[in-house]
Amino acid sequence: EKIPIEPILDTLNEDQRRAVTACTSTPLQIKAGPGTGKTKVLVARVAYLLLKHRIPPQNIIVTTFTKKAAKEMIERLDKLLQGSGIPTTKLLIGTFHSISYRIIQKYGAAEGLTGFTVATEKDAAQVLENVLDSDISDKDWALIQSLPDAALAPFVAGAVDSDGSGDTDSGTRPKLDKKKILRQISKLKAHAIFADEYAKQRDAMFLLSLIYSLYQRRLFENRLLDFDDCLLYCHKIISRRPVLSFVQHTLVDEFQDTNEIQLQLMFEFAKVKKVESETKCSVTIVGDLDQSIYAFRDAQVGNFEKMLDHFSRIHSLQCLVVTLSQNYRSTSDILAFSEHVMRQQMKRTQKNLVSQLQSSLKPVRATLESLDEEARWVAYHITHLVSLPQSPFEHSDIAVLVRSAYQTRVLESEFVKHRVPYTIVKGRAFWERKEVLAMVDYLRCVANENDQLAFLRCINYPKRGFGPVAIAEIEKLFSQTAKPSTDIREQIRLKLSDSPQLNASLALQTLRSVSRKELKSSFGAKLLESLNKFIAVIDGTRKLIKEALNGTESNPEALAAAFDYLYETSGLKRELGDDENKRLNIEEVKAQLILFEKPSQEDSLPDFAEHQFEIPDIEVIGDSEGEDEVIELLNLSGEQTKGETNDAFEFLRSFLSLVVLYETENSSKDHINHPKVSISTIHGAKGLEWPVVFIPGLGEGLLPASFALDGTEDAINEERRCFYVASTRAKTLLYLSTYTEKAGSLNWGRKPVEKQSRFLTGLDPMLAQMPFENEQSMKKLYTLTGTIPPQDLDYEKLQKKYLRDYNLYVKQTTDDHDNRPGFVTGTDISRLTLLQKATKSAKRLA
Ligand code: ATP
Ligand code: MG
Repeated sequence: EKIPIEPILDTLNEDQRRAVTACTSTPLQIKAGPGTGKTKVLVARVAYLLLKHRIPPQNIIVTTFTKKAAKEMIERLDKLLQGSGIPTTKLLIGTFHSISYRIIQKYGAAEGLTGFTVATEKDAAQVLENVLDSDISDKDWALIQSLPDAALAPFVAGAVDSDGSGDTDSGTRPKLDKKKILRQISKLKAHAIFADEYAKQRDAMFLLSLIYSLYQRRLFENRLLDFDDCLLYCHKIISRRPVLSFVQHTLVDEFQDTNEIQLQLMFEFAKVKKVESETKCSVTIVGDLDQSIYAFRDAQVGNFEKMLDHFSRIHSLQCLVVTLSQNYRSTSDILAFSEHVMRQQMKRTQKNLVSQLQSSLKPVRATLESLDEEARWVAYHITHLVSLPQSPFEHSDIAVLVRSAYQTRVLESEFVKHRVPYTIVKGRAFWERKEVLAMVDYLRCVANENDQLAFLRCINYPKRGFGPVAIAEIEKLFSQTAKPSTDIREQIRLKLSDSPQLNASLALQTLRSVSRKELKSSFGAKLLESLNKFIAVIDGTRKLIKEALNGTESNPEALAAAFDYLYETSGLKRELGDDENKRLNIEEVKAQLILFEKPSQEDSLPDFAEHQFEIPDIEVIGDSEGEDEVIELLNLSGEQTKGETNDAFEFLRSFLSLVVLYETENSSKDHINHPKVSISTIHGAKGLEWPVVFIPGLGEGLLPASFALDGTEDAINEERRCFYVASTRAKTLLYLSTYTEKAGSLNWGRKPVEKQSRFLTGLDPMLAQMPFENEQSMKKLYTLTGTIPPQDLDYEKLQKKYLRDYNLYVKQTTDDHDNRPGFVTGTDISRLTLLQKATKSAKRLA
C-alpha cells in the first residue's frame, strides 16, 4: 500500500532533491530561472509531504497561476502517487482567486457573504457607470467640481474619449474615466485596503474614497464580487476566524507575480504555529524575478524580501533559500538567445543557466510585409512542420504566443482558412459570444436574484417591449429595495461585513410584491404582463433547477430539462432562429453546465459550524450594544444560510463564477480531442512548455507594446521579461517574426509598426533565416526529438518543395480570398500586390 518516495527523488538533481526534502517547519524559497524544474520540485515536494510526512491531501494548499497549470500538476501527482491510494483531488489546488472564492463560499456566511457570484470586468464597468450616473449626490458633485485640477487629473478622461460614453447631461461635471477609476480601486484592493479603511487614511483622495465605497455598495446590492474582492474578502474571513487551522502546508508557484494581498493570503494560509515551544511554519514558494510580468496588476517583486523579512522579524524564523541552475527544457541555442535578450537589460544579475541539452537549432526569424502575411507565414510553417516526413511534431506540440489578445484575430482567420486546428488557451472567445453571454445572463438571473445587471440585460432581450422609461422604472425599484436599512442590527452587520444590505428584500421579490396598482401606473397592463411572464420564466426555472439538484445526487437529465425550459420559454431560442452555430454554442453551454463538477475542494474544506460563535478580535463599532448583538446577528446569518442557501443555486453560482474566473473548461465545439495548436497570450503561457513556439509580432509597438514605448525604462524591462517568458517556453524550435509597415499605412486605427523590436537588436548571429538551412540541421531535428528520419530523406527535394509550397500557399489563399469562412482581414489589399509581396518574401527567405 505504501509507495516509497525514493524513486521520485531519483528523478531529481542534487539541488532539486535538497529543496524537496528540506525541513518542513521552516519557510522555503526556491529562486531559479525558467525550465530549471521549479514546478517539478513543487510537485515532488507535495508528494514528499504526502508520502513521507503523511500529511492528508486536504491539509495542503497549492496555488498555481492558471487552471491549466493546476490541472497539469494534479496529473503529474497522480502519476507519481499511482498505487498509493492517496486521493489527489482532495488537495486544495488552484489559482489564488479560485481557492479564495471557494473559501468564501464555504465560510463567507459569518461575514454576510452568501449567495454571491463573481462579476466580469464588463459588469464591474457597468456598476461603476451606474454609480457615476446615479449614486453621487449633487452635493458631492459640487465638491468634486471644486477640486483642484491636480486632484482630478488621475481620474478624468484624457483627450480621447476611450469608452465613447458621452455624458452630455453632466454639463460642467468633470468627465471621469471609468478605466482609470477601476484601476485605482483595484490597486487599493491589491494592497488589501477596504473602502472604509481608505476613507480613514490621511492622504486619501476624496473622489476615490467616495466612488470606491459607492461602487462597493452597488456591487454588493447585486451580490457580486469583482476579481479583487475574491482575494480581499477571503483574507478578511480567514484573518478573523481560524477557519483554515487545518492547513498544514502551503505551496506557491510563480511567486514573483504575487501582489500584496496574495502575499497576505499566503501568510494567513501558512499561519505560524507554536508546537512544543518550537516555532513552525510550513510554506514553500518558487519563482523567478526575470519572469515577473504582472507589475501592471500590482505584483511586487519585493515579495521575496518581504517574505524573508516577515518570518525573520516577526517570528524569528529564517527562510531557507535554494537556487537551481540547470535548465532541462530548452536547447542551448534557445537558452543562449533568451539570456542575451535579458542581458541587454541593465542591472540584471546574470544567472548562468546551463542547458542540459547538447545539440540545438538556432531560432528562426523572418520579417514580413504585413500583418496578414505574417499570420500566413506562421500558418504555413506550422503546416510545414507537421507534414515533414515522419514528422516529430503534431499540432498540439506547437504554440503561438502573442503579446496582446487582439493579435489572435488575424492568426485565427488564417488558421481557419488553412485548416490549421487551433485552440485558444485561456481564451474568452467562447464565453464572450453574444448568444452565450445571453444564456449565461439568464442563468445568472436564476442563480442570483439580486443580480440587477443580468436582470436588466435579460428583460428586453429578446424584446419584450420595455423601453428606456420602463427600464429606468425597474432600475428604480431595484435601488429602492437596496436602500441600506437603518435597522441597528443591519448597521452592525454592515460594519462587520462592508455589506450594505444583507437583509434587504430581494429585488425580484419586490417586483413580485409591489402592489399591482403601483406597477400598473408605471408600466401599463401590457408591460406588466410582460414583466410577470418574464419573472414566471425565472421562477419556473428556479423550481426545476431546485428539483434537479436538490436531491442527494444531481440529475443531469432534469438539469438539461431545466436548461431547455429556460432557453425556450425565455424566447431566446426563437430569437436565435436557425443559426446552426449559435444553436451549437448554446448546446455547449448546456453540456458544460451538466458536466460541471463542483470543485471537490469544496468538500475537502471542513465545516466551520462548531466555530460559528468564536469571534476573535472583532471591533464593535458605534453604540455597541456589545458583542451579544453581534453574536446574535452572526448566529442569525448562520441559521439563515443553513436554512436558505440552497445547494442547487450554490451549484449554479459556483459554475457561473468559475466561468468568470477562467476556471471552467475551455470550450471547443467538437468534443473529440484532435491535437490542436495552442494560441495564447504570453501571460497565459506562464509555466507551460511546447516543443515548438512561434512568437509573431516582434515589432516596436507590439513587443515592446506601444504603451511602453513612451514609458519608463521599467516599462520596457517588463516587456523584455515578457519576451523572455515567451522564448523560454520553447523546447526545440523557436520561430520569431515581425512585419513592418510604412509610416502612415492604414491599420485599423492602430499605429503602424515601423521597426523590428529592439529586443532583437544585435542578435542576428544567433538567429537563422529559415528553418533547416542545410541537411545537417534537418537531421539534427530528428536527433533532437528522438525521431527516426525516413531512410530516403532527400534534403534538397524537401527544401525545394518548402519554397515552392510557400508560394502556392499564399496564392491559394489569395485566390480563395472571399470564399472562406471567417476571413476578416486583408480585404483592402489587392490580390496582385499580395501575391507580389508574398513571392518577394519567399525569395528573400530563399
Ligand atoms: P518555469 O520557470 O518556466 O515555470 P520551471 O522552473 O517550473 O519553469 P519545470 O516546468 O518544472 O520548470 O521543468 C521544465 C522541464 O524540465 C519539465 O519538462 C521538467 O519535466 C524537466 N525537468 C526538470 N527537472 C528535471 C530533471 N532533474 N531531470 C529531467 N527533467 C527535468
Ligand atoms: Mg514552473
